Amino acid sequence: MLLTIDTASTTLRDIERRIGPGLQPKRPRAIASADGVWLTDTEGERVLDFAAGHGVAALGHGHPRWVQAVSAQAAQLSVCTDTFATPRRAELYSRLQRLMPYGLDRLFLCNSGTEAVEAALKFARASTGRPGVIAFQGGFHGRTLGALSATARPAFRTPFLPLVPGFSHVRFDDLDALRAALTPETGAIIVELIQGEGGVRSASPAFIQGLRELCDEHGVLLIVDEIQTGYGRTGRFLASDHHDLRPDLLCLGKAIAGGIPMGAVAIGDRVGELAVGSHGSTFGGNPLACAAALAVLDVFEDEQLVNRSRRLGQHAMARLRAAFRGPDSPVRALRGEGLMIGLELRQRVGPIVGQLLARGLNVLPAGPNVLRLLPPLIIDRQDLDTGLDLIIATLHDAHAEAGA
Ligand SMILES: *Cc1c(COP(=O)(O)O)cnc(C)c1O
Repeated sequence: MLLTIDTASTTLRDIERRIGPGLQPKRPRAIASADGVWLTDTEGERVLDFAAGHGVAALGHGHPRWVQAVSAQAAQLSVCTDTFATPRRAELYSRLQRLMPYGLDRLFLCNSGTEAVEAALKFARASTGRPGVIAFQGGFHGRTLGALSATARPAFRTPFLPLVPGFSHVRFDDLDALRAALTPETGAIIVELIQGEGGVRSASPAFIQGLRELCDEHGVLLIVDEIQTGYGRTGRFLASDHHDLRPDLLCLGKAIAGGIPMGAVAIGDRVGELAVGSHGSTFGGNPLACAAALAVLDVFEDEQLVNRSRRLGQHAMARLRAAFRGPDSPVRALRGEGLMIGLELRQRVGPIVGQLLARGLNVLPAGPNVLRLLPPLIIDRQDLDTGLDLIIATLHDAHAEAGA
């Protein structure tokens, strides 16, 4: 039987509310299609996308190079487990390896960010034999039990306790707290160099250098989670590149395959040999995802997306700084690098996200009062300015109303 559904957004949201797991409240639009930086909802209205599926759509939506590569690969070979070598996977290994920090010469491919974190935690455990992991308050690493054990936020953790033993969470960007938390059982430290879900908060250069030194002193493996910060988001290919940082394990996800699910772990030489058969994935490194990931790398080169991110990020920051100056500004702090931008508001962010969506702009919250922008890196200056104009006007309006 062919089931045709009424595509009115209220009907779709009602079906998803009734049959879905109820884990995510639905925003008051339903999205039917997308092109570049624009989403189109089921009523035919366009929405400018400054969220890009949490940063996944770095190439925007439906980039012709990516569509062509995925379609051609789907026709040629989509399934091939890694018991066989295959051209797209070998090509991706070679090209991605060259983009990783020195010494991270091996790659493990999987299907999501949380799987990349899970693999990195397992590799660190197998390599050091030590169960202790130090993570940071405000950090987010995913939702499976291992990655969740590294994630600090109580609302995510509490329903699922007890989690994996051996994890502790120390104050972010605080070397003394980190030093105090190290024990002979500590095998790994996991960190985001810029916390995304935690409110777009950057670790200081001194902290990052100290982190590497502490790991070296104690034979602890450093896992850097670049699932959100990687792939040009911060104006360098990796956030690690800003600091010449050499992690032992580096996690990638989100933008890596431009919308086909994929995650990856780059593995440093200190990790040593991994036992044959000790980890694996049915879908990991499938040729379809690899072809998508190769198209992403092609577009990054051709369209200079890392430089764009840096340049446009500077432009956006300058505009936001000018618009939100002074003690009476609705914005308490502006943070970020490249096109990963956080505006810490003087009010709760939820209503602002709703007002912006009503005005045609899709943005993300990060915690209770941070507005987070992760626009596609292919965005042009005009569309970027359109979105920034909406943000500036909406925040000033809300502020004026609250003050009135
Ligand atoms: C999104 C994210 C994850 C989890 O990735 P999923 O693909 O949702 O499992 C992990 N770490 C960071 C920093 C992220 O931003």
